[in-house]
Amino acid sequence: MKYLSEYRDASLTRAVLEEIGRTARQPWVIMEICGGQTHAIVRHGLDQLLPREIELVHGPGCPVCVTPLELIDKALAIASRPEVIFASFGDMLRVPGSGQDLFHVRAAGGDVRVVYSPLDAVRLARENPERQVVFFAIGFETTAPANAMAAVQARALGLRNFSLLVSQVRVPPAIRAILSSPGNRVQGFLAAGHVSAVMGYWEYPPLAREFRVPIVVTGFEPLDLVQGILRTVQLLEAGQAHVENAYSRAVTEAGNQPAQAVIRQVFEECDRAWRGIGTISMSGWRLRSEYADLDAEHRFDVSGIQPIESPECIAGLVLQGRKKPSDCAAFGGLCTPEHPLGATMVSSEGACAAYYRYGRFADTAA
Ligand code: SF4
Repeated sequence: MKYLSEYRDASLTRAVLEEIGRTARQPWVIMEICGGQTHAIVRHGLDQLLPREIELVHGPGCPVCVTPLELIDKALAIASRPEVIFASFGDMLRVPGSGQDLFHVRAAGGDVRVVYSPLDAVRLARENPERQVVFFAIGFETTAPANAMAAVQARALGLRNFSLLVSQVRVPPAIRAILSSPGNRVQGFLAAGHVSAVMGYWEYPPLAREFRVPIVVTGFEPLDLVQGILRTVQLLEAGQAHVENAYSRAVTEAGNQPAQAVIRQVFEECDRAWRGIGTISMSGWRLRSEYADLDAEHRFDVSGIQPIESPECIAGLVLQGRKKPSDCAAFGGLCTPEHPLGATMVSSEGACAAYYRYGRFADTAA
């Protein structure tokens, strides 16, 4: 197929759904890792069109959602300082910290700016040499290359007023944590196509072998998604714990080598805290010692912050696929996109936001 519109073809998608129905002989639980895939699945109602044997659960692949509350509180503290221009992607401005969000900081006089690239933040630093510019560098493997490039460029330009508040996380350790948890129900994974476009899928075979789960690299259009699900079901029914690529028009096994090289140049692996889930061993990246002077947590004294999580919010269970958003007592009542209690109700990739936006309340949820 040559055109993206063909991957949205309803009759082709229905044909694959029927094939899934003929293939599935027993119940299977499959997790889509990526929040972008969750939104596409819920928007197109694919989960409701699947045979009853197949349950899709939503994973932790929403970067805004898993950024730890402590780091949000640090962002709020840094952004409140008069000498700081705090630059961030727009989603992060509405994510609630312990007491407020970045919009509140801006309303109180903080200089909080929405940017569309970390390189925009580097430009801000060049244009404002008398101010400290801090970029909120969050995300999975997809954002890491551009965030690393911002550090490289700031260094090349000799900027002393630019720093990064880093919360970079990685998918493979999250899969390991989910599969290792005592309450795990997930039997197969759809691996996110855009993460795999950067990193390839060479990291997945050891996980598939160790935990006896198939992992299928999957894209984002309806036909991509049902093809990824079909291949996962075929592997599950055949008892094969293989890694396969159902998104070959964008993904190779090795991935984007220059992007991986710049990540390695700037970042090194470290333990990371995931909001609502806890610390996962070697699940993130931090700045290497050569770039440590660009670390905003060191440049500004933000130690001693004690985050306070909303007691109603069960986003940690939602992000691990153990609860659906509609299982949360606060969903659609105390917690809405206008008044979110947790990040999963804010982000354009959050599962709670998807369920709210597409009307998946308890009596309609799959
Ligand atoms: S509906 Fe709101 S309170 Fe409930 S899990 Fe989602 S974000 Fe948290």
